[in-house]
Amino acid sequence: MFPILRRMCFRAGGILPTVFLLALITPPTGFRLPAAGPVGFSPQVPAEEGTELPLVTHYDLRFHLFPKENNLEAEASMTVRNTTPAPLIEIPFILYRLFDVREVTDGKGSPLSSTRRVVKFSDEKSLQVSFISVRLGRPLSPGESDVVRLKYAGALWGYPEVMAYVRDRIDENYSLLRPDSLAYPMLSLPSFQSMMAAFRSQFTYRAEVEVPDGLVVACGGRPIETVRKSGNATFIFESFKPTWRVDVAAAKFKVIEEGGIRVYAIPGDEAEAPRILEAARKSFLFFTGLFGEVGDFPGFTIIEVPEGWGSQAADFYILQTAAAFRDKEKASELYHEIAHNWNVRVKPAVQRCRYFDEAFASYFQGLAIREFEGEDAFEDYMGMRRDRFLKSCERDEKNCSTPIVDYWKEERGENSYTKGAWSLYVLHQAVGDETFRSLVTGFLREYRVRPSDFQDFQVFAEKTVGRSLDAFFKEWIYGTESSRQLREKVDAGRIAARYR
Ligand SMILES: [Zn+2]
Repeated sequence: MFPILRRMCFRAGGILPTVFLLALITPPTGFRLPAAGPVGFSPQVPAEEGTELPLVTHYDLRFHLFPKENNLEAEASMTVRNTTPAPLIEIPFILYRLFDVREVTDGKGSPLSSTRRVVKFSDEKSLQVSFISVRLGRPLSPGESDVVRLKYAGALWGYPEVMAYVRDRIDENYSLLRPDSLAYPMLSLPSFQSMMAAFRSQFTYRAEVEVPDGLVVACGGRPIETVRKSGNATFIFESFKPTWRVDVAAAKFKVIEEGGIRVYAIPGDEAEAPRILEAARKSFLFFTGLFGEVGDFPGFTIIEVPEGWGSQAADFYILQTAAAFRDKEKASELYHEIAHNWNVRVKPAVQRCRYFDEAFASYFQGLAIREFEGEDAFEDYMGMRRDRFLKSCERDEKNCSTPIVDYWKEERGENSYTKGAWSLYVLHQAVGDETFRSLVTGFLREYRVRPSDFQDFQVFAEKTVGRSLDAFFKEWIYGTESSRQLREKVDAGRIAARYR
């Protein structure tokens, strides 16, 4: 489902592929770019000082799509902040391999010199990008910002040879522009590692997307206005808050909207939209009732993408593949994505464990299933999560023998969707309903802004529960006794008895 790059799988099971960098999905065949973080609270850290490369803090994007010709003309004005300790004169960008850069200027339109070449990633040789090194007119001091503007044009055909789900293109049936395809420039060196670091930064954006009349543009940002002129329509969006990716889709969408939730359905699927909207609405209400308000909820957008193109989630929106969109059984994947609104922030060192986003969202998904579909459906769901974990152990014993706390080391975060969810199931059983609820609510409140890690979680949990949870953390987070429990299919209540 949501692969990133073929060889590294990011996201494991939700609906939405997380995005580029972090996502994992089922069967872990794909390397996925970081997936979507929590929908509501992005797991990324705010732009920090002391990074290796400067960061883009704002994008002003203009896309003119020519669906008949399968290409685009684009302009990206990027506010670049020098977050490194030294003055900088050269700024590196990567962009989709088939785009031609036509002009590089500063914010006032004065030309800047640059070099451009198509290169392979140093650590992922199958990924080819345009690498553009821009020389500023004057050195940028630490802490200072400047604007770099790139104009570019060309055809977009995604990266299906590297990341199966990245079929981004410009087409009359469906157009999709994502960072996964580098449809807009990222401030990064041509390496996976550098690109992941860029994905961890946050920025605001404004996007103007011009399409022929008849097409509707969907975006994860706030719709500002639509301007119609001489056979074209320009849709304008702005980010709700600092975020880490921009997604733009254009199709003859049918749009329905209610209570701040907006659904963009591909023609033919519009009959599904009310059900999707209802699933989103009721799970929002359910999680709000359990764990409290999300803060200033700006709305939520669900954008259908063609099958196989990868579901993904980011701040306040998801891209959902057609099969999941149509399949009534998959409503629960939507609960998962909605649950990401109730994720804490996480320290970068353990972010790739995917525990604080995916284990929590996967378990919360289970709680919503129990609420809406009953106890048996919940048990089936948890049973499937366990079976999926056991399969991943069969495939590679290290999935079994690696403690959750070490998942980041070899990109084993996919197991957070399965065993991670089980760890919360067991903890819930061990501490009881009321305590579990106040634990999660309090933990969310405490770590909504400042980032947490496993130690913070343990300290907070023990404070809430009023006793040591050392045995639980030892067996589930820091050790792998838990894998044996899952292998022997001991039921959650009996496992939990060890920690009461
Ligand atoms: Zn997820």
